Amino acid sequence: MGVQDGNVVGMTKIVDHGDPSVRWNLVILSEGYQSSQLDQFHNDAQNFVTRMYQTAPYDELWCGINVYRIDVSSTDSGAADPMGCGGTGYAPHTYFDATFCGDGTIQRLLTVNDGTVHDVVNAQLPHANMILVIVNSTEYGGSGGSVATFSLADGADEIALHEMGHTAFGFADEYDYYQGCGIDIGHNNYTGGEPGQPNITTVTDRSTIKWNNLIAGTTAMPTMSNPDCTQCNNGPNPVPADTVGAFEGAGYYHCGLYRGQYACRMRALGNPYCGVCQQVIRRMLAPYMVSWTYGTNTIGAGQTQDWWLWWPTYPGFEAIGVQVATPGNELQTENPGIQQNSDGSTTYFISVVNPGGGDVEFHFRGTAL
Ligand SMILES: [Zn+2]
Repeated sequence: MGVQDGNVVGMTKIVDHGDPSVRWNLVILSEGYQSSQLDQFHNDAQNFVTRMYQTAPYDELWCGINVYRIDVSSTDSGAADPMGCGGTGYAPHTYFDATFCGDGTIQRLLTVNDGTVHDVVNAQLPHANMILVIVNSTEYGGSGGSVATFSLADGADEIALHEMGHTAFGFADEYDYYQGCGIDIGHNNYTGGEPGQPNITTVTDRSTIKWNNLIAGTTAMPTMSNPDCTQCNNGPNPVPADTVGAFEGAGYYHCGLYRGQYACRMRALGNPYCGVCQQVIRRMLAPYMVSWTYGTNTIGAGQTQDWWLWWPTYPGFEAIGVQVATPGNELQTENPGIQQNSDGSTTYFISVVNPGGGDVEFHFRGTAL
């Protein structure tokens, strides 16, 4: 059992955007890989990192993210598969004691010994923000507690992105069943208070709903209601796919809880994160993004100055702007633009206008957001 069944081999930084004290650090650990299988783990970890890099909004936040891989070997391969959930009864000796049927009821619930995982991560990287364990099994499963897990089943990277939503960003499940539509008892009408999670709500008032800034004035509220609270709400989307509003059916309940968009990765795998979830991810990662001051200058009353900024092509870089050093003075910016150069580099430009009232000192700033 546990740490007698393997070894912590070491840690490797596989995505490097700088000092871990100022970045959002994802740590990926191996579970149920024998030492001869660690090369396979390196491939599995890299495949997930590639998938994450291609996933909105991580693609535009990438330069705020570091990724570390911790190689941990186990005596045996795979994860326990208890017969209580219909499994084979396989019970291997692995470092983090991974098991399907982690709650004794649901086969796909793949759990590990979270305490042992935290011990290993704390010893290697105290600045970890998100911990992901890849379990070397082709059986479908995952979970998202204080650490997230996923297996190597087809589509398992989708499980990982979903579980990361729970573990890193505190998202609720947006689906409206627990064990299954037509199986659940007691999941018709939600009667509790407003949930703490940022992506489900009891509120359908457009001015007080958590994601009110994302709802267009022309969108009906609620946007979609469930006509039969004894059933899951699987009717067609009444609005265009990218509409944010209030859609009834979320958080394991058919009625009384709403989600922000018809589809979301937190509702069903294979969808993008919805606009509500993406906004939460952007806000939570904003403090870890690259930010810099390019220069300081003074501009006279009534003057316009063009600023050109060369910057190598850098995924995620998009916002540039000016910061006034003397509060109370206003500057206008005009004509921000981006020019692709023939050598592959990028030039950013912006006009700074002082509408009058005296000289203004300002700092030219860029933020990779
Ligand atoms: Zn969502």
